[in-house]
Amino acid sequence: MMNDKFRDECGIMGVYRKSLENNCASYIYYGLFALQHRGQESAGIAVNKEGKIMSHKEVGLVSDAFKGNILKQLKGNIGIGHVRYSTSGEDGVTNAQPLTVNHSTGQIALAHNGNLVNDKALRNMLEDSGVVFQTTIDTEVMVNIIARGLRHGMIEAIQRMVEIIKGAYALVITIGDKLVGVRDPYGLRPLCIGKKDDDYFLASESCALDAAGAELVRDVEPGEIVVIDENGLTSYGQNNWVKKKSCIFEIIYFARPDSVMDEISVYAARHKAGEILAKESPVDADVVIGVPDSGIGAAIGYAEASGIPYGVGLIKNKYIGRTFIQPNQKLREEGVRIKLNPLKETIKDKRVVIIDDSIVRGTTSKRLVEILKKAGAKEVHFRVTSPPVAYSCYFGIDTPRRKYLIGSRKSVEEIREILGADSLAYISLDGLTESVGGKTHFCRACFDGEYPMEVPVLSANE
Ligand code: SF4
Repeated sequence: MMNDKFRDECGIMGVYRKSLENNCASYIYYGLFALQHRGQESAGIAVNKEGKIMSHKEVGLVSDAFKGNILKQLKGNIGIGHVRYSTSGEDGVTNAQPLTVNHSTGQIALAHNGNLVNDKALRNMLEDSGVVFQTTIDTEVMVNIIARGLRHGMIEAIQRMVEIIKGAYALVITIGDKLVGVRDPYGLRPLCIGKKDDDYFLASESCALDAAGAELVRDVEPGEIVVIDENGLTSYGQNNWVKKKSCIFEIIYFARPDSVMDEISVYAARHKAGEILAKESPVDADVVIGVPDSGIGAAIGYAEASGIPYGVGLIKNKYIGRTFIQPNQKLREEGVRIKLNPLKETIKDKRVVIIDDSIVRGTTSKRLVEILKKAGAKEVHFRVTSPPVAYSCYFGIDTPRRKYLIGSRKSVEEIREILGADSLAYISLDGLTESVGGKTHFCRACFDGEYPMEVPVLSANE
């Protein structure tokens, strides 16, 4: 059951407090706590006091990484934080962020959400010129490019890095007396700005601003560099080659429902997707249930639009993280049952509509149908709030190889048969666009293969 969802790889947070007397570590801690769903394998905070940076990072959840009086020891009015989810072989504290490097004019710390597509070429180039890397993460490539350009000035160094690197990224950086935020020229990975009195905040999602008591001001625009210092916020605008292509999967699945992204309420979009699905793919049934957590809003929308009552059909064990040990295939198959338990009162002898956000490999969905039938469902009608996932993502999202994506090889009817469902329907691409208010500034490449930049596109057999 592992890896049967697309996985976001990180959450980032930055805080600038105007008064040197005010420490920022607790705000970052609260923000990272709210971003925990974006990464559970390591957490870190770097704080900057008058140009001197100290940091703490550890493997594990935010609450485990910052035990005792660690937060109190992190003194500084500017800081950045990071929660990380990594693919196998890359975890461990060495690759945890923020990453701090020393350079001739001081220290720089950087935290990153996303993925570079030209990381290898840049790493080779830097190694050829004598750079020795301490980690295997592309964050170190970025921080080195900035450090090498600093003699031309900080803004120039960051602008130069933005011109060289290709991929999806949102960055928070602290250097000297400044906090800097950067979003890639397509805006693939999210980053928003918040404010509370004279203090500024940067975060992957607005729910982190809420946790720190700050108000959402706006999103960082694609290709924009924002620099925050004692003069407030200065925007270094966008390059003329930007083309907004935010990740639509943030709205469908990654983001918390209480976040607002690119001026879209995540909850409202999911609710709307459920309403649209009810119109596009109606069915006679007795109850609508959602797969927690991201399917709930859509299930309520489907129920309201169809007139079929909504019910709580699956109870989620909230304490199973990605590190949950499933030592063999049989136990892996049991994994869904341990994570999601059916409520027989809702399901028994009913024709059930179940709403999920996506079908990736199909293994979890198949198991869900089995669980519902075993709990006495007369019929199970599967509805999905995204179109078939048929292409891998190269932009900071952990996805299975294309050949493992069931939507890349099978028709909807074949998938229905594999799942054992009585009917199966996905939202249409047009319906998905309607759910986000008709806005078309989204990357939807995992559905339509139209990547916003060149990637190593694989056939369905690879
Ligand atoms: S390919 Fe899919 S998951 Fe990746 S950035 Fe585009 S929409 Fe998001």
